[in-house]
Amino acid sequence: MVVKRQVEDTSVRLSIVVPCYNEIDCLDELHKRVSETAGQVAGTSFEIILVNDGSTDETWRAIQRFVTTGTHTIGVNLARNYGHQIALSAGLEIARGDRVFVIDADLQDPPELLVSMMALMDEGHDVVYGQRAARAGETRFKLITAGLFYRALAGLSDIKIPKDTGDFRLMSRRVVDVLISMPEQHRFIRGMVSWIGFSQVPIVYDRDRRFAGETGYPFRKMFALATNAITSFSVLPLKVASHLALVFAVLGLAMLTYVVSSFFAGETVQGWTSLAALILLLGSVQLMMLGVFGEYLGRMYMESKRRPMFVIDQVKKPEVGAVASPVVELHSMLRTRINEN
Ligand code: UDP
Ligand code: MG
Repeated sequence: MVVKRQVEDTSVRLSIVVPCYNEIDCLDELHKRVSETAGQVAGTSFEIILVNDGSTDETWRAIQRFVTTGTHTIGVNLARNYGHQIALSAGLEIARGDRVFVIDADLQDPPELLVSMMALMDEGHDVVYGQRAARAGETRFKLITAGLFYRALAGLSDIKIPKDTGDFRLMSRRVVDVLISMPEQHRFIRGMVSWIGFSQVPIVYDRDRRFAGETGYPFRKMFALATNAITSFSVLPLKVASHLALVFAVLGLAMLTYVVSSFFAGETVQGWTSLAALILLLGSVQLMMLGVFGEYLGRMYMESKRRPMFVIDQVKKPEVGAVASPVVELHSMLRTRINEN
């Protein structure tokens, strides 16, 4: 955090961070709409940071074109596909703006909402997050699983994480500084922002369908994000073991009383059925709990390696113009800081 302040020589009022994974068909429209809105609210003092998250299409080539033909775009090419949350974190680390606006590349969230978000932030809030009223173009399955997830998370976590909220938001510099100083690898950014605190307010909007292309979040990735969210913000699943143990201890005691009393009453207990049922039940519960322990243990193991969160192949910035500070240098200093941690 301190390092960042030292090398911040030119001030940029607004940074826009966009993680991009195979978004070639969305990029032109995105860049146009984002530039227009940014110009409206920040004059020329803005930077658009497009992070290429190991796309397999022409996304990086398109990003480089924006960098060389304009003065506001910074392109960041990650060394491979790290996933949305890490790509976003890479962009946040490069961003230098007093305020940072985060948006997806697919235009499901309207960039124009930035105007109202800036106005809300002027009232003294540190985070203005988009909250979805309607979600067009999503499958029933996604809506139902997302709904279930937000409710489960609310029940499990001590931190109040707003529901129906993605990473579409405007954040103040101090929030972003804290966020990038949080070294965890399994990131659930919206939850981490809630954890930080300060004044955070929602702005309700209707989520559109994708402008083009298809989702980079298949069920597998959604499930991973949900597991990260729950394990990062709750240890309740671990405690399930002790609760279950209590329940089974009571049941076992009752069973024992029954067995002993029937022994003295001279009734031979036939019940291999109940025995088998018990073994199966206990066995499956034990396995399930082992799985839960495994999830947490695995995460601790991965975190304990202290690997850098991501590797950057290249940062491409405009030769001249509004953004001229040593971004690459800034980046490597931050990297060092993380490695030293
Ligand atoms: N994304 C990314 N890396 C990935 C998958 C997605 O950077 O591995 C980006 C993607 O380009 C988009 C944002 O993350 O800007 C959200 O992804 P997407 O729109 O596919 O998810 P959905 O809105 O369907 O949940
Ligand atoms: Mg999307």
